[in-house]
Amino acid sequence: MKLQEIKNIDIAGKKVFIRCDFNVPMDEYSNITDDRRIRSALNTIRYCIDNDCSIILASHFGRPKEPFEEKYSLKPIAKRLHTLLKQEIKMAKNVVQDDTLATASELQAGEILLLENLRYNPGETKNDEELASKLASMADVYINDAFGVSHRAHASVEGITKHFDINSKAAGFLLAKEIKFFHRIVHEPKRPFVSIVGGSKVSGKLEALYNLVPKVDKILIGGGMAFTFLKALGYEVGNSLVEEDLIPEAVKIMEEAKTLGVKFYLPVDVVAAEAFDAEAIAKLVTVQEIPKNWMGLDIGPATAQLFKLALNDANTILWNGPMGVYEMDKFLKGSTKVSHAVASSFATTVVGGGDTADLVRVTGDEDEMTFISTGGGASLELIEGKVLPGVKALVLED
Ligand code: AMP
Repeated sequence: MKLQEIKNIDIAGKKVFIRCDFNVPMDEYSNITDDRRIRSALNTIRYCIDNDCSIILASHFGRPKEPFEEKYSLKPIAKRLHTLLKQEIKMAKNVVQDDTLATASELQAGEILLLENLRYNPGETKNDEELASKLASMADVYINDAFGVSHRAHASVEGITKHFDINSKAAGFLLAKEIKFFHRIVHEPKRPFVSIVGGSKVSGKLEALYNLVPKVDKILIGGGMAFTFLKALGYEVGNSLVEEDLIPEAVKIMEEAKTLGVKFYLPVDVVAAEAFDAEAIAKLVTVQEIPKNWMGLDIGPATAQLFKLALNDANTILWNGPMGVYEMDKFLKGSTKVSHAVASSFATTVVGGGDTADLVRVTGDEDEMTFISTGGGASLELIEGKVLPGVKALVLED
């Protein structure tokens, strides 16, 4: 797959619309608590400034229920951009009303206009044609740098691309990096290729599991989803998270792994608790001995050691999903141990998914990973082998 990239098209002096992902976490006072997503958009923005472009930035933020709900305004983003870029950011009052279109048309080289939250306009998530066309009318060039929403057919992600020819639209630096990384890892990994899959449910990652099994050499399953597999093998897992209806699928996945010679690892011990509660009484048990009304909320130390051994010879590691309920300290240990094992390996390590990215920050291993993907859903769809709607329009050749 060859992507049209920003560095390969002529943007000099042009008006450029950049779809960013500024969906950052904020506290109740609208303070940005982690501006990583804003900082990672700066490469593309600065490149446009250096090329004398006038720049229109657009992003969604949260899920406003009504237009112009103040707590979803992008004003705090404009402030942070101003601090980071040390230049004025013109803040639009809306998305595509006449005053904003007028400001966009008067924008001079080097100037930046930030549109209000795209989701203030209900047409955004509906991929509304009129909205897409108005957004497109603001610029000569369209750049997508929002990996996190590229799996969504939204007006600013998909609809808008129809209004630009292939030499006037491209992936920004961040999007290109994410797509290339995942493409390489899924299609030409250095072997042994080991995938660690965790998180809550099998259902959310079923397609990804089906697509991964034929590609990897080993697969290590942790988190809540492990219990559906354990149950499928006949273990009594108490009140642990089990998707009964997916037991046949779990059996199929394990059979497929066996047929293909893929080594399939499941937990051998877990931290079980009386309730899904940070204060619940918990104890360490083997998977053979989970008490009737208890639930497994983390992998145990024997499993962490087993996974560590299995990772020993890996040359590529793809990790998606925590090993336990990492949000509660009591059930964070298993994920921490796996995180350290991944971080200290010599493999190319790719961490995908919002929770897992958050987790490696908590464990302090963030800088040791080769690549941390910013988009959870989007990275999962890439692993599933899908072409993301927002990327499809930017592909030069398959
Ligand atoms: P996902 O969005 O599917 O990647 O799942 C992430 C969530 O899975 C996190 O919020 C974890 O708390 C949760 N999780 C991990 N392990 C378990 C478990 N054993 N039981 C219930 N939830 C879990």
